[in-house]
Amino acid sequence: MPQTTFDIFRYQPDFSDESYRQSFDLEHESEFTILDAMLELQNEQDGSLAVRYSCRSAICGSCAVRVNGKTVLACMTQVEAVKEEFGCETVRVDPIGNFAPIKDLVVDMDPFWEKFKSVKPYLIPDGPPPEKERIVSKEAMQKIYNESKCILCAACYSECNSFAADPEFVGPAAFAWGYRFAGDERDGQRRARAKLYSGQHGIWDCTRCMYCNERCPKGVDPRDAIEKLGGIAFNEGISWGDPGARHAKAFLISMKTGGKLNETMLVPFTNPIKSQLDVPFALKMMKKGKAPSPIPHRIKRLSEVKKLIKNVKETI
Ligand code: SF4
Ligand code: SF4
Repeated sequence: MPQTTFDIFRYQPDFSDESYRQSFDLEHESEFTILDAMLELQNEQDGSLAVRYSCRSAICGSCAVRVNGKTVLACMTQVEAVKEEFGCETVRVDPIGNFAPIKDLVVDMDPFWEKFKSVKPYLIPDGPPPEKERIVSKEAMQKIYNESKCILCAACYSECNSFAADPEFVGPAAFAWGYRFAGDERDGQRRARAKLYSGQHGIWDCTRCMYCNERCPKGVDPRDAIEKLGGIAFNEGISWGDPGARHAKAFLISMKTGGKLNETMLVPFTNPIKSQLDVPFALKMMKKGKAPSPIPHRIKRLSEVKKLIKNVKETI
């Protein structure tokens, strides 16, 4: 049977305010998951080791932890696979990032639930209910299928750069739920939702680091949901006061007019005041051939790009 050393974050506030690390050696079945290992340690070596879990089937979203620095669901991550991936015999286990630990691997999820609630994660249809049920086509549901898979595990928040920098940032899973309803044809609040999500700490504060897409265990792709909400905000004519929105708009205009990105126009469009201060620097860069010309270029098959933009717009 394989033998593994687990280097585990410990925090026992009943005894000390200081966190510490503790190593445990464990002989275990080769199919053991990280959760199996934590429960075995809890049962056989230290009953005070705290870990949150429920279904053991990657459905309840309770057991997210960081393993060797990457956020995963403990119940769907095998110990031997981690050792192989990292080429190590010691596996490091920490609570998820960006939330305060309550005890060992268990964190305070209250801020997460607050964010989730803030996006109004429920259908708000217009008008009185129909006599019978509301029928929705398979194609219409397909549009929000990805977002419907979210199990609220908060792995995305653990990896989110914007959330780390700004604890008020609404965040990836909440926005995935936002699109789940803004994109639902039975919902009557598309414009109001776009407005709500485009406010302070909203969709335009995302740094597009893509870590949420990378680490989501269910393939929800929350960054893509944020992108789609941005598209709705565009279509509804919302958010022009926000530099993030203007930055995205600059990309769109650049693609529509030239078929490729005109980097030189990004700064003036995104932040007109700051760009005036940067003019001497920009001119110096151009002189040295380090900045592309601000004159818009046009690719040969611009009509193809325009068609693509139209298609994307129609899928939102
Ligand atoms: S979007 Fe993915 S990572 Fe984030 S809470 Fe939902 S399932 Fe978990
Ligand atoms: S892409 Fe945006 S929401 Fe996703 S982890 Fe990065 S900053 Fe957070």
